[in-house]
Amino acid sequence: GLDVVGAWAWVEAFHRRFSADAAELGELDRRAGDGDFGNNILAALRRVRARLEQTQPTTPGAVFLGVSHGFLNTGGTSGPLFGLWFRGIGRATDGPVLTLAQLAAGVDAGTATVQRLGKARPGDKTMVDAMVPAVGALAAAVADGLDLADGVALAAEAARGGALATEALRARRGRASYVGDVARGVLDPGALTVALFFDSCHG
Ligand code: ADP
Ligand code: MG
Ligand code: MG
Repeated sequence: GLDVVGAWAWVEAFHRRFSADAAELGELDRRAGDGDFGNNILAALRRVRARLEQTQPTTPGAVFLGVSHGFLNTGGTSGPLFGLWFRGIGRATDGPVLTLAQLAAGVDAGTATVQRLGKARPGDKTMVDAMVPAVGALAAAVADGLDLADGVALAAEAARGGALATEALRARRGRASYVGDVARGVLDPGALTVALFFDSCHG
């Protein structure tokens, strides 16, 4: 499991990793959308950091609810959708330690909410293309009795696979759906960000 220090470290590592890739991810959004993706998520992550410093959460659940709050108040399509996703994780745990089973349940619930609101299915070239494989990998890891670090590593691999597969697709949801075949050959930045999130856990 992951305690509050571990959860906070995960979010910090995600912020660092995203910052390093923000320009590249923004460029993908420019090629198939409007180019603001990197700045939208950076703004959310800065808000998250300020909120965590201000509220000093004492459980992993409170950390992820803080993350959710920072994202929900962000412009763009991705900010609120990620906000709902992180809320699913935050609500799945309320003790001192986040277990793999709780994380799996939270990612599952958050992904279901993202799909309900955004109406995207796997193959529509959105963040859902990375979220759904991660849900499957986490469920399998729980069934196999893995610990959190090993389960998250499998989720990262599954999310990365789903994200890379978006390259060949046309988009059926979001702004990238407006450009038709122009989106082929462009990876979806939202899906890559889901993979980056799971990659950032060193639990
Ligand atoms: P905007 O298109 O409003 O500028 P962003 O640039 O912040 O939004 O985010 C774009 C990302 O949002 C895409 O890469 C995609 O992963 C995700 N996205 C867009 N529409 C949807 C949707 N309906 N469901 C899930 N994810 C979506
Ligand atoms: Mg955009
Ligand atoms: Mg925009």
